[in-house]
Amino acid sequence: MFDKRLAHTLILMAIVSFAAGCAPTQTAAPIATRTVLPPAPIPTLAATAVPPAQAPTVAPTTAAQLTLPQPDCSQGVTPAQTEGPYYKANTPERASLLEPGMAGTKIVVTGYVLTRNCRPIARAWLDFWQADDKGEYDNRGYSLRGHLFTDADGRYTLETILPGLYPGRTRHIHVKVQAPNQPIVTTQLYFPEVQQNNRDGIYKTKLLVTWQDVSGAKVALYNFVLNVN
Ligand code: FE
Repeated sequence: MFDKRLAHTLILMAIVSFAAGCAPTQTAAPIATRTVLPPAPIPTLAATAVPPAQAPTVAPTTAAQLTLPQPDCSQGVTPAQTEGPYYKANTPERASLLEPGMAGTKIVVTGYVLTRNCRPIARAWLDFWQADDKGEYDNRGYSLRGHLFTDADGRYTLETILPGLYPGRTRHIHVKVQAPNQPIVTTQLYFPEVQQNNRDGIYKTKLLVTWQDVSGAKVALYNFVLNVN
């Protein structure tokens, strides 16, 4: 009995063994097929590109930011004018003559100080004095009086008010200008379209400022041309 079972078992084992030996050789289990994804689309620049940054087109908010026209020295050297009776030396250095509560129309006076060959003069000294809105000078203190220097580009910028009229004179701002180590030139600036201009014996068209509106501010342009190299 035992032998029969053993024999049966052995036969079965032989059969299984034979069957296994005859089975077609199995290849190694296939490596899981990689799912080949289609290449990710390259984002097109057109769809995602941000518009190129552009220089801000914000209007200049101060006259200092105003791009001045290329200096034109064709009208020649700035003429000298009388100093008048109201000059005071030793003015404070400042770029603004405005004071709290000061009456009048705020303006900015700006431009270059240039050689007669139209080269900008850095560190030129400009000393301004003028009447107030009522046409009166401050002869006790330094209201509406002050000096400043041109920057490295030969440019100056002064905040002030439109000077008032006084008997015998049209609107004007007095100024002394001096290139470093050169003589002082004393002169006056005038404003266009002032009725009194043509009734003022000192007035000169060569000393007229040019008005320009910058963000609502009244900007008076004037380039001083000095008789220096
Ligand atoms: Fe005056």
